[in-house]
Amino acid sequence: MKPFILLDPGHGGIINGVYQTPGKRSPLWSNGSQLFEGECNRAITQGISQALTLRGIENKIIVPELEDISLPTRVRRANHVATQHPEHQCLLISVHANAGGGSGFEIYTSRGQTNSDIIADHLTHAFTQVFPNKPLRCDYSDGDSDKERGFYMLRKTHMAAVLTENFFMDNEVECYLILMSAKGRQKIIDYHVRGILAWVKEEKGKQ
Ligand SMILES: [Zn+2]
Repeated sequence: MKPFILLDPGHGGIINGVYQTPGKRSPLWSNGSQLFEGECNRAITQGISQALTLRGIENKIIVPELEDISLPTRVRRANHVATQHPEHQCLLISVHANAGGGSGFEIYTSRGQTNSDIIADHLTHAFTQVFPNKPLRCDYSDGDSDKERGFYMLRKTHMAAVLTENFFMDNEVECYLILMSAKGRQKIIDYHVRGILAWVKEEKGKQ
């Protein structure tokens, strides 16, 4: 089956200077700058979408608007695309930035052994290639490199689905050097694209 990648930028964007999501932002740094997670998630999903399109891989950003669309609506949109494309193998990637003190990359999949674990392993491997010196926050308790949590998007979508937490916006170094920089954002895009391409290759090999 042909792959179809669904991209979900977490939270809302900025409309007329007003950020659409309460919280979900970095501290106000000493130079007056601040990161709004939903803006960053949009920049990254757009970069992933462009790179996939250039490689002939069908994809869709399920929240193209700047409003913070509810989780049930996001899930409905993703499942609707899957229903409309029965000849495709759909994969959902929800893109976020982390907070709460820490550093590095985390990835979550739907519970249990599912196809989500395969893409999670590819994304994790791609992360370690692009950021060899950055921590990968793992829970190996079930043998997988992802932590399993009942995230709504992951529980309710009818397809392989993962949620990436890309660095910590309340970590000043990661926020400045990675999340707020064009170069850093490009590297985040790069490991997503590498991971997706590896997954596509593996799925093709099974046919
Ligand atoms: Zn988030």
